[in-house]
Amino acid sequence: MSDHTIHYDVLIVGAGNAACSAAHAALEKNARVGIIEKASKGNRGGNSALTGHMRFVFNGLEDIRALVKNTTDDELRTLLERMPHRTEAELWDEIMRVTNNQSDEEMLQVHVTESLNTIQWLASKGHDWTPAGGFKMPGDNILLMNGGGYGLQQRNFTKLEQDGVTFHYETSALDLIQDDRGHVTGVVALTPKGIVKFTAKSVVMACGSFEANPEMRARYLGPGWDTIHIRGVPFNTGDGLRMSLNIGAMPHGSWTTCHASPQDVCLPKFTIPISYTTKKSYARYMYPYSIMVNTNGDRFIDEAEDLRGRTYARMGRSILAQPGGVAFQILDAKARKMDIYPTNYDTATASKADTLEKLAVELGIVNIPNFIETVRNYNTAIQPGTFNPDRHKLDGKGTAGLTPRKSNYCLSIEDGPFEGFPVRCGMTFCFGGLKIDPANAQVQHVAGRPIGGLYAAGEMAGGLWVGNYASGSGMMAGATFGRIAGMHAAMAALQ
Ligand SMILES: Cc1cc2nc3c(=O)[nH]c(=O)nc-3n(C[C@H](O)[C@H](O)[C@H](O)COP(=O)(O)OP(=O)(O)OC[C@H]3O[C@@H](n4cnc5c(N)ncnc54)[C@H](O)[C@@H]3O)c2cc1C
Repeated sequence: MSDHTIHYDVLIVGAGNAACSAAHAALEKNARVGIIEKASKGNRGGNSALTGHMRFVFNGLEDIRALVKNTTDDELRTLLERMPHRTEAELWDEIMRVTNNQSDEEMLQVHVTESLNTIQWLASKGHDWTPAGGFKMPGDNILLMNGGGYGLQQRNFTKLEQDGVTFHYETSALDLIQDDRGHVTGVVALTPKGIVKFTAKSVVMACGSFEANPEMRARYLGPGWDTIHIRGVPFNTGDGLRMSLNIGAMPHGSWTTCHASPQDVCLPKFTIPISYTTKKSYARYMYPYSIMVNTNGDRFIDEAEDLRGRTYARMGRSILAQPGGVAFQILDAKARKMDIYPTNYDTATASKADTLEKLAVELGIVNIPNFIETVRNYNTAIQPGTFNPDRHKLDGKGTAGLTPRKSNYCLSIEDGPFEGFPVRCGMTFCFGGLKIDPANAQVQHVAGRPIGGLYAAGEMAGGLWVGNYASGSGMMAGATFGRIAGMHAAMAALQ
């Protein structure tokens, strides 16, 4: 090991949104802050740089006005007609609904009550938002980060550098250092110059989860997960979780489930932050308006049991379970006429044909008669009602007597040309993490007491998500608990 030791009041591991939020908060307490980041400067930003939006509580125009620049009150009122509010009670219910009431109540309480405060605090750090999806068809959440997560992270880096934070790139945390009391006093890291010791009065772990580690995916998520493609950066290999578990940190939340959604079959093995600027998106989230079939021509899931933002994160798992881990989203000409395709379907891997038989051949569906029968049975089972592709409201136009049922957004598949989009499971991040005290983000020991000097936030903090997730929640939780971690880490360091 190099005899060179670098010291900070607060050392933060990782440079994603949770880490940057922790750094802003630690600076407010006048701490000397250092960040070590595994990626190079050119590849910095983490999964956070690939995101679009946050899910937060708002009660009306007055809560979002300060977040959005260059938009008039009238334009915002038009936006609010689609989604007038998301109250604390509504956000709580949504998260309990998607997690089957298994979200950690104490964590969720803080997440819900702090989300508006936190987003307004982010605005005070120079961030701003734009109306989601323009005024024609807003996304699942009402606002998008200006420049997406990439813009958010670029602003974070600029401000933190100006405010005196030192970044060490290409520096991977390997192990935690403890004193005789068991307090964490630093991190041993691998740098381009060799192994370096970083000491600190407090350490904030914000270096993501294990989604980029095939061995851990297989170990915790099960067979088949080792070879899947991830949607994000290749750097989140579970290092922070491993080194924290090694010193007795308490695991928390769901280690066998994760966020995984339908992605274009050509999704690369991983993606780096700069890709955000090319605007190439592999997300294939038209499935609530389609039927999804496997290579056998069978449907396998209710495509529209709930709003898209409350189902997409569990759809990847059901696609992975199909033969070859592939499925096809099937729509007919009506969807084009209604103009309900998101623009990213312009570059989707796709087949188009005048007949269902020809479409099946082009897609590689093996059992064509079965596929035709699946479509016929679906068409016959659709109940009367009006199709309405509103992303904030279920339309109730479902099937009867069909297994699996399709609960909403049923459009018959009978008018050519027909279109099919092959999709695969794209994994986003893992739900399992460490147990933290939600009040101060301090990591808890299996012995039932806090680990002195150790804090965690972002994907590393477990408990909020179980089996499923509501879109826009990861960035919100990362900012909320990152801020809490940075503030308490700094207060403890400067005591
Ligand atoms: C394509 C995509 C789109 C998404 N869209 C959204 C969205 O719109 N809204 C939303 O809320 N969520 C979204 N998510 C989820 C969201 O990205 C995560 O919930 C969030 O970014 C987690 O933040 P984080 O700071 O914990 O992790 P990250 O942003 O991933 O940061 C972790 C950092 O730690 C670094 N690191 C890893 N190991 C080490 C080590 N040993 N030493 C030092 N550094 C290390 C990594 O390089 C990385 O920079 C999306 C994810 C993806 C992949």
